[in-house]
Order: sequence, then structure tokens, then C-alpha cells
Amino acid sequence: MNPIISVKELVKEYGTLRAVDGISFEVFEGEIFGLLGPNGAGKTTTLEIIETLREPTSGTVTVCGLNIRKEADAIKQQIGVQLQAAGYYPSLTLTELIRLFAGLYNRDVDAEEILGKVALTDKSKAKYKELSGGQKQRFSIATTLINQPRVVFLDEPTTGLDPQARRNLWDLIRDIRAKGTTVVITTHYMDEAEQLCDRVAIVEKGKVIAINTPDALIDKLVATGFERPKEVKKANLEDVFLNLTGREWRDE
Ligand code: ATP
Repeated sequence: MNPIISVKELVKEYGTLRAVDGISFEVFEGEIFGLLGPNGAGKTTTLEIIETLREPTSGTVTVCGLNIRKEADAIKQQIGVQLQAAGYYPSLTLTELIRLFAGLYNRDVDAEEILGKVALTDKSKAKYKELSGGQKQRFSIATTLINQPRVVFLDEPTTGLDPQARRNLWDLIRDIRAKGTTVVITTHYMDEAEQLCDRVAIVEKGKVIAINTPDALIDKLVATGFERPKEVKKANLEDVFLNLTGREWRDE
């Protein structure tokens, strides 16, 4: 398989703190790759170095065959990154914001089509501040697609969303992959990583401590004799919730 991102011996120091301590991994073209780990493990720092937003202390990173130190501008053209909400001018509509970002990327885009991809066509004339939490997350994912990137980075895209919105966002992320775009995602939800990711890397104290498919990691643990307490019921509270409230988007 073809690596679209290659990280070798990456180190990032903040003063005396080694937030990233010699991380190496590859992301293959066309996969959904998850970066997992406890708070403060170094995930965001690693992602932002790959996105060319932070300088590494040492190590080599290439994205789409380009070097982050020498070819940052070319990399920015090929990747989709969620912008901070502060960049969403409050008085502009979603359509106007998409056009504004397209202008920054020097791209000619159909704003309606992009909003359609994230089921926000009905909100095209709304302002960002008028959106619900789930709609804001979807809009933020839409902005990553404007420059038709080869790799999209999503930092905790479903945090704070209701069960329906999470599931619908999973479908959206799978759609993005189905169109050939590689997706790199961070999440604290292990069910989400298990459902969505082709492979995951688990980061702890600035190091990768495991990397594989979710299935292989689970099998390895089971092979050590690990057994989880037996599930006594055939459904859980989330099943009850979804059964009662349905699976449709709820924030329209
Ligand atoms: P979370 O799951 O909480 O988002 P994370 O895995 O993304 O955590 P990072 O944000 O990369 O972790 O932070 C790793 C460590 O580096 C933390 O101890 C954090 O306090 C520290 N850190 C991050 N950014 C800076 C910075 N700009 N200056 C100094 N220290 C920083």
C-alpha cells in the first residue's frame, strides 16, 4: 500500500517537556487512520506538525511525497484542515463563508454542492452562530473539502454530538473516504474508532505504543487470555435511545 503520510522519529519539545518523543508511523492512501490516546499524549501536536502548522524539533515528515520543512505551501494545497471557529465571520452566511474560503484557496467551487455533501443545503442562508452543535461540526467538515484535498484531518469531529449526529457523521466520513480521500481522525470514543478506522495508532506520553487494525489489536489482547465481563443484556442504553428517538438528524 502507498503511504500518503510518513512520520519518522518525530520529536517536539516545549521547553523541557518532550510532548512528542520519537513518533514514527505511516498513513496509507485511501484509509481512515485514527490517532488515539489520553489527554496530553501528543496527538494534536503531531497532527499540527503534519499539517505544517507547527515546527518539529526534529524528525522527518512527508505528506503526499512533500517535505513539511521545505514544501509547506504545496502541502497546504493538498490537505483539508478544520479551521478554528473564530475564522467564521459572524455576519456571513454559510454560502458566503464557503465562497470566502474558496477564494483563499483560489478555487472555484459550487457552495451549494459542498453544503449538500454535509446535509446543510437548508441552512445555506443561515449564519454560523445560528447553527446547532452538530450543524457547526458538519459545516467545519465541509470547509475541509473546499480545496478537493487528498488528505483530510479531523480533530475530535463528533465530540459533544448526540447519538444520531455521531452516526450520521460516521456515514459522512465514510463517504469522504469512498471518494478516494484519505482521512486522519482523532477521537476519545473507542466505539467510534472501532467502527470507523481502518487502522489506529495509540499514542501515550509522546510515543506510539500500538499500531494496527482495530480487529488485530482486539485479537492480540484476547490472545493474552483477556476476557471482558460477560454482557448480560442484548442491548444497551444507546440502543434504547436510538430506538425511541430514531436515527435521523435531529437538529434541523
Ligand atoms: P488532548 O486529547 O487533550 O487533545 P493531545 O494528545 O492532543 O491531548 P497535545 O495537545 O499535543 O495533546 O499536548 C501534548 C502536551 O504538550 C501536553 O502536555 C500539553 O500541555 C503540551 N503542549 C501542547 N501545546 C503546547 C504549547 N503550545 N506550549 C507548551 N506546551 C504545549
